[in-house]
Amino acid sequence: MLNKTISTQLYTEAKNYFPGGVSSPVRAFKSVKGSPLFIKKGNGAYIWDEDDNQFLDFCGSWGPLILGHNNPQVREAICTAAELGTSFGAPTRYENKLAKLILDNNRYIEMLRFVSSGTEAVMSALRLARGVTKKTKILKFDGCYHGHTDCLLVKAGSGLVTFGESSSAGVPDVFARETIVIPLNDPVALDEAMRTHADDLACVIIEPIPANNGLLLQPKSFLECLRLKCYKYGVLLIFDEVISGFRAGFEGAAGYYGVQPDIITFGKIIGGGLPVGAYGASREIMKNVSPDGAVYQAGTLSGNPLSMSAGYAALSQLTEVGFYENQERKTKLFCSIIQNHCRQKGYSANVKQIASIFWLYFDTIEITRADQIDPASMEKFKLLHAYLLEHGVYFGPSGYEVGFISAAHTEQMLIDGAHIICDGLDMVFNQF
Ligand SMILES: *Cc1c(COP(=O)(O)O)cnc(C)c1O
Repeated sequence: MLNKTISTQLYTEAKNYFPGGVSSPVRAFKSVKGSPLFIKKGNGAYIWDEDDNQFLDFCGSWGPLILGHNNPQVREAICTAAELGTSFGAPTRYENKLAKLILDNNRYIEMLRFVSSGTEAVMSALRLARGVTKKTKILKFDGCYHGHTDCLLVKAGSGLVTFGESSSAGVPDVFARETIVIPLNDPVALDEAMRTHADDLACVIIEPIPANNGLLLQPKSFLECLRLKCYKYGVLLIFDEVISGFRAGFEGAAGYYGVQPDIITFGKIIGGGLPVGAYGASREIMKNVSPDGAVYQAGTLSGNPLSMSAGYAALSQLTEVGFYENQERKTKLFCSIIQNHCRQKGYSANVKQIASIFWLYFDTIEITRADQIDPASMEKFKLLHAYLLEHGVYFGPSGYEVGFISAAHTEQMLIDGAHIICDGLDMVFNQF
């Protein structure tokens, strides 16, 4: 049995300080067995908890750590910057450096603004879209997550095209009603929603690679259709690339699918493991942001030298030739071992994959919409999750979450990890 003595003590203490004992809800292990592990350190593809258990990590801090833990260049960049002070609330050369690297290597945006989280990036992008179009409503897709900003904490009501219902206490219905929610991969619902609401719709926001509620990969044709409809109805298209940015390729999902959005939001990888977000667009759109334009947005710690240095040190490694090809090849190898095992054994389980993102799910159908995920299948994930922890493999504590492979995962680590997962699946399907 996993020794969790210190983690358990710390969790007991933390529950006195924080709701649920955590700083972000999913960490509380409510969707899996047991209580959270408190992590002490990470290096490369591995993390260690406070009881010194070692795990091959497939969570990667939920996406930012595409280079693995404690990447030497990133660590050095942070330390070097820290020696000169951590924040000035004034412009620094570090912001230029990171912005130039991003903009020189992304054909889909011309200017950007740094913020401090993905949520903040999305919040600001929505305000910008509303400011530019002078319209108020937002269209989102069921199964896409965009952070915890009020008007996006909404879920679909009943019916094909619906006004959102708040999915959190504290979000006034009047905010939720500004948001229209439709299913992913449903051109008919999309057309109906756009036709009905075109006069009020400021923007459509989508995770072009939906990866927060399973991995709901969309056909390229759906994204193209969405693009055309937005042009047709004068609605701005926001790609929320907080996960897919710098993950599906340096140009994210926009580059992967070759679809031009109007505004892109970034987070996670962009900060090299420190808190950074950004939103970017054409010059034409970005000139509406204050102080040039009338859309107000600001941040005390935005663009601070530590975060900018970490981001630059991380992203500059991603521009190396072959980086993404190598990531994809390793991830495919890893997934194929699990896929083949499931097929051979006839298990109702499969792995979806894109770039270095994967999602293990307990079904065999192709899933492109949130409502196709069977909630009952999560019981199997709970068993698997506990088995994996016992055997030194760390998955994010929810079956709706995707896994990430980093540059620090070697082929051999991935082969070994995949075999442990296959053994875990044997255990699960023995019980079901
Ligand atoms: C993680 C995420 C967010 C929120 O980012 P935070 O940094 O957690 O605020 C927004 N959108 C998407 C697509 C995300 O994956």
